[in-house]
Parts: sequence; structure tokens; C-alpha cells
Amino acid sequence: MDSQRDDIERIKEILIEANPEVDSLTDKEMVKEMKELANAIKSIKEMEFDVIIDEQTPITPEIKDVNSFIEENKEKIEAFKEYAISRHDGIGLAANQCSLDGERFDMRMFAIKTDTINAENCRIAIDPKITKYYGIKLTKFEGCLTWKGVPGMTIVADRYLHVDVEFYTPDGEFHKETHSGFQAQVWQHELNHINGVEEKILLPSELPHIKELSRNDLCPCGSRKKLKRCCLEDYKSWI
Ligand SMILES: [Zn+2]
Ligand SMILES: [Zn+2]
Repeated sequence: MDSQRDDIERIKEILIEANPEVDSLTDKEMVKEMKELANAIKSIKEMEFDVIIDEQTPITPEIKDVNSFIEENKEKIEAFKEYAISRHDGIGLAANQCSLDGERFDMRMFAIKTDTINAENCRIAIDPKITKYYGIKLTKFEGCLTWKGVPGMTIVADRYLHVDVEFYTPDGEFHKETHSGFQAQVWQHELNHINGVEEKILLPSELPHIKELSRNDLCPCGSRKKLKRCCLEDYKSWI
């Protein structure tokens, strides 16, 4: 009997650490909460995601009220994050690239990672926006989980070096950030997915040869200055 009591106390301590409000619950309320939590975990585990192959992602519906969107879709958002983490073959994954239980998961959010291995480096951006694109713009080749049906299929797109972004986290926190280089590139790619923007998709034999700029060429930031007098360092770091 006593050891069971100890177990309950230990579980309660862990729960209080995660959420201090648990401390004010009676044992009966806590058991009820734990049952609900267990059911939520079960339903998250039962959600079946998959990437829909070789179909352009359609524009996702607008989110009118972010807080109620998050509240209503808590478990789906959590399950989508789990799925994105499990896909070690991608850095970014837009919700509407996927199906959930056979239907396109057309929500305005995407998962973005800094690497494919560590799960803690996966973040979910809800109702994301790019408020500013700037810096040099270069042509980039990108892989995409949507177009995996044709081997070697590559997206060719002009991407800016910097973006200012806004989004909500699954906890409902509003974030404003600036991203540069590869993370900025992933943002531009994923945002196009949820906006239904068609990318240029080419086979390996069709890929353009991208000529390296020389110091005397015009800077690709659009300043009309020579590269050597403008964004040369940025160019060298991002080509
Ligand atoms: Zn993609
Ligand atoms: Zn420049």
C-alpha cells in the first residue's frame, strides 16, 4: 500500500514540475486529468500521417483566431510534430504536404528543423508569415518530399538570403525572428507550400548551369552596385 502511495506522490511531483497548477488538484481530479492525458497520447499515436507524393500543395485555409485554432487542434499539431521528427529525410515539412488518416492535412503550419537527427531541434510554425525578404537573391536547387516520386526531381528557385518572419508556437506564443542562409531558404520553400505557390520542378538533365558571379558583376541584391563594393561576403558565404 505504502509503496503505491509513494508512486503516486512521485508521479505528482513530476507533473507539478511540468505544470505547477497540478499542485492544486485533488487526487481524484489528478486521476481524471491523467486519464484524459493517456487518451490524448493514445489518439496522437493512432493518427496516421503520410506525405502525398507528386501533387502540388494547395493553398491552406486562413486561420481566423489562432488561439482557438491551437486549442481545437492541439493533438493534431502534436501528432504532426511527432511525424515531422520521424521523417529524417527532410529539414522542413509543411502540414499540407501530408495526409492525416487519408485526407490532406491542409493546415497553415509547417515543421522546421535545424538538423534531421535531434528531435528537440524541430519547431512548429503556426500561421507563419514572411514580412520581409531581403539581401542577395540566388538561384538554389532544393529537394522536396512532395516530388519524391520522380527520382532526381529538383526544385529550382530564387531565394533571398534574409527573411523576417512571424509565427505562433504550439503554446500560442507569438514570435518574430530573422533568418538567414539555409534556414531562410527553408522558410521560403515551406511558406510556398502552404500558400499553394507552384515551384519550378526540373529533372536532373534539365537543371540550368549556374554561373558563378565575378567581383565586377552587379550585386544580386539589386543595389546596382558591383558585387565587390556591395554584398561580396554574403555572396561567398551563401553560394
Ligand atoms: Zn517541399
Ligand atoms: Zn548587394
